[in-house]
Amino acid sequence: MTVLLQIGRRPPDPDPTPGGHSEPADQPVPGAVPGVVPGAAAEARLFHSAHGAHLFVVDGSRVYDLPGDVEGQVRSWLDSDDASELGPGARAALGLEPGASRRIDGRPIDPPPLSALSLNVMQACNMSCAYCYADEGRFGGAARMMPREVAFAAVDRLLAESRPGADVVVGFMGGEPLLAADLVHEVTAYAARAAEAAGRRARFSLTTNLTELRPADARLFARYPFAVSVSLDGDRDRNDALRRLPGGASAYDRVRAGLDLMARHGRPRHLAARVTVTPAGGRLLDVLDHVIGLGFDEVGFAAVVASPDPALEFTGPQFEEFLAHMVECGEVALRELAAGRRYPFGNFETAMAQIHRGSHRPYPCGAGAGYLSAAANGDLFACHRLVDDPGFAMGSVTAGPDQAARAEHLARGHVDRMSPCRSCWARYLCGGGCYHEVARRGRPGCDYIRGWLAFCLRAYVELSAVRPDYFEGLPASPGYGGSGSDPTTVAR
Ligand code: SF4
Ligand code: SF4
Repeated sequence: MTVLLQIGRRPPDPDPTPGGHSEPADQPVPGAVPGVVPGAAAEARLFHSAHGAHLFVVDGSRVYDLPGDVEGQVRSWLDSDDASELGPGARAALGLEPGASRRIDGRPIDPPPLSALSLNVMQACNMSCAYCYADEGRFGGAARMMPREVAFAAVDRLLAESRPGADVVVGFMGGEPLLAADLVHEVTAYAARAAEAAGRRARFSLTTNLTELRPADARLFARYPFAVSVSLDGDRDRNDALRRLPGGASAYDRVRAGLDLMARHGRPRHLAARVTVTPAGGRLLDVLDHVIGLGFDEVGFAAVVASPDPALEFTGPQFEEFLAHMVECGEVALRELAAGRRYPFGNFETAMAQIHRGSHRPYPCGAGAGYLSAAANGDLFACHRLVDDPGFAMGSVTAGPDQAARAEHLARGHVDRMSPCRSCWARYLCGGGCYHEVARRGRPGCDYIRGWLAFCLRAYVELSAVRPDYFEGLPASPGYGGSGSDPTTVAR
């Protein structure tokens, strides 16, 4: 019997009812389940680290050390697509016997209870960033502020649609939500009280350009469990080139002033910076070092994939350069973390945590599943980027979520049902790509996603070898704040 050493946490065994499936655990899932395409290259990926050969098994996102003899068998299997090339011992150890139950098998999940709802409290912005997907918060319509009664109804709806005893996240989005700061204060206090009365715990998230922060806002973020994400693209020159305030004022200076206010009046439990990168972005390591130096708990990059200005969108070849810069940053993160030093590169740390947990999912994020977003008028959409997009409309805060629309979205978006995703080894970490980006641009960045994940798998093995303690403190599931509570993905 071949014994293979699995690195990281063992993911749960196949769940008989993932999202509402009714088949018993011991019933093999037939290969004929719609969407699942068996095939070695779609089921596993052989890779090497400083410690030898390893196998990433897609189902359950499992990572194994491979002794030399098994590496040969695995290579033959991957090259020939013939499972008999893999000895029965190795097949059993990897859970790859013919007819074995899978953790994800092509069947869509049923719409789960809500766990997060973002409120677009202000569909307008005081800035005019060149790459903004949201039309400065207006999403192609008129500037609007969410009426107070709609905001309260949204909180009530979230609580009513959530699981008893659950943690729920109330998000504040825009536009710029702090242009409606008084409403944010009022809704936060209301949600905390209402959640407690309903036997839930409310947490809060807010995405802001931080140019309008007041001392009272900083105190609010410290008083309640807030995760605040600040949009900041680097140092003064770099940030202000595309992130524009009216009259030529420096948005960077205003962000620094906001950070000073937080230092004096109160800091959220988790403070992240989101750095948006365009094809002209250049070296990211300098940006990362600068923004980490400002004291954020997490700094993450997001490439512009869908923008009103096509010149600011990445194309396929430009992703190669982006990947090289991301890997350079990742190598520094690996080195620093391996040496026991803090280096909060969010994309890297999120990937480490998710690979360690064996995260595997058939969707890119919780949009349309446990997460919805309320437009200023109370209409519900799959997520904050898809506000006012009729293709992703999902009910309203007064009438409730449109379960049929959610179910259809989850059936359509299952990664095993989409081409080319169904034959991609990265599919249960990637989930098939952000719905907003795919709807507007398709999937121009797949090689980047796979390249980044391939690097992260190698880095994960190497970090595990020298710093097992780094992973010991990680929560078993996505925790408070940071990328874990942002409905985005490990691959981005
Ligand atoms: S979007 Fe691209 S990288 Fe992600 S699963 Fe689909 S094919 Fe793979
Ligand atoms: S990853 Fe999901 S939540 Fe984030 S913007 Fe895309 S669709 Fe929306």
